[in-house]
Amino acid sequence: MRTVAILGRPNVGKSTLFNRMVGRRQALVHDLPGLTRDRLEGDGRLYDLTFRVVDTAGVEAGGEETLPGRLRQLTFEGLEEADIGLFLIDARAGVTPADQEIAEILRRSDKPVLLVANKCEGRAAIAGAAEAWSLGLGEPVWVSAEHGEGLVDLADMLRPLLAVPEASAEEDEAGEPDALDAAAEDEEEEAGPKRVRLAIVGRPNVGKSSLVNRLIDRQRLLTGPEPGLTRDSVSIVWQFEDREIELIDTAGLRRRTRIEQQVEKLSVSATIRSIRSAHVVVLVMDATMPLEHQDLTIANLAIDEGRALVVVVNKWDLVEDPQAALALLHERLGDRLAQVKGVICVPLSARTGRGVDKLLPTLFKAYERWRKRVPTAQLNRWLREALEAHPPPLVNKRRIKIRYMTQASSRPPTFALFANRQAEDLPGSYLRYLSAGMRDAFDLHGVPLRFVVRHGE
Ligand code: GDP
Ligand code: GDP
Repeated sequence: MRTVAILGRPNVGKSTLFNRMVGRRQALVHDLPGLTRDRLEGDGRLYDLTFRVVDTAGVEAGGEETLPGRLRQLTFEGLEEADIGLFLIDARAGVTPADQEIAEILRRSDKPVLLVANKCEGRAAIAGAAEAWSLGLGEPVWVSAEHGEGLVDLADMLRPLLAVPEASAEEDEAGEPDALDAAAEDEEEEAGPKRVRLAIVGRPNVGKSSLVNRLIDRQRLLTGPEPGLTRDSVSIVWQFEDREIELIDTAGLRRRTRIEQQVEKLSVSATIRSIRSAHVVVLVMDATMPLEHQDLTIANLAIDEGRALVVVVNKWDLVEDPQAALALLHERLGDRLAQVKGVICVPLSARTGRGVDKLLPTLFKAYERWRKRVPTAQLNRWLREALEAHPPPLVNKRRIKIRYMTQASSRPPTFALFANRQAEDLPGSYLRYLSAGMRDAFDLHGVPLRFVVRHGE
């Protein structure tokens, strides 16, 4: 089993993350007074992942004044004994000299290190998390250990690093529900349905601002415009039926001069930022030149981030033969955005307002699919039939056996397949066959689906 070391200066939230990972089983031990906290070890879990986790909390007793020597040493030792390092920083505090000390050691190590910006649950953390880039350890994963946010993203980053299969863990994996998973689900129930966070993205001049203005025009705003996540962005909240929609990072609300509009370039980093903070991403395209290279780039960013996606084809008023145009669009979408087969596509005109009313209901549809949970029994009933209809291929004359399947997480729907060793070579085409079937069976059209194949003997 692989060992993950949680590294970082005191008070960044290492123990909090450690407790999240080991669950209730070991949290108790940790609460014992007087326990030496030099090292805490436990069996860690994060959704479908299992690993050994070490918390190198030792410097606490000495406090900051014993730094930096002791901290360097602990970091060094912690990483020495682990396969992977999770380097936590406190995004609220930003990058401190102690963080830089640690980063320097980690940069020199040849072990994989994930940079984790913790305490990211509020806006106060945005600047610090962005600053984390400066540590030279790549892109930070934004989490809140205390609130259980961003752990899906963390799991996604960790998954490839833990890729070595564990033969024995299979049975109990499939058995009882994971404590952490259940906790994540509770939070989702609380925070999920009430307010949907929406980002409207697209190339310059496709009509994003026009669309935003149309949408706002028709809504009774609850709040806003409020200062948004970045300097020149604002966030707006309105009510639709019994739900709230928060339109985030809406630089488009700013009035721009004609010159500004003309010279505007696609800002990929701003787009990524919006996508990251959204549940649903609306990608606006121009009907007179749909599915251009940049449109696909943005779509793929949203898919890679695992967000729910809705495609708006704006300027529909300029289209001469709507029926033919729509048919062509669907065909091309199926081709070029195959990872989100069946993605919802809404033709509209921000200028005339036609079709704009259709947008909001489809957003919720995409959102619901994205956060859907398919019960394990249903999933396996379906799987048996799918396997019978079209059995997995032979690999080195041995058949791949898929035994069982369960939904490991939602947002986006992520499924774990439990299989025999041959499944290492499970072809992509077979996963595509399964995912196509699942989209139909469980109404998962247009959402990115993720699969994790776990195999033992
Ligand atoms: P360690 O010394 O690095 O192990 O840090 P702890 O896990 O003991 O956490 C230090 C403090 O940060 C505690 O008061 C935690 O409650 C708090 N903390 C941990 N994670 C988060 C978080 O995600 N958000 C916020 N706001 N506070 C956190
Ligand atoms: P943004 O850069 O994506 O925010 O795009 P804007 O909203 O600024 O629109 C760019 C240009 O397209 C402006 O000249 C708009 O008037 C025009 N435009 C926006 N929506 C439509 C539409 O539905 N139909 C037509 N014909 N023009 C539109």
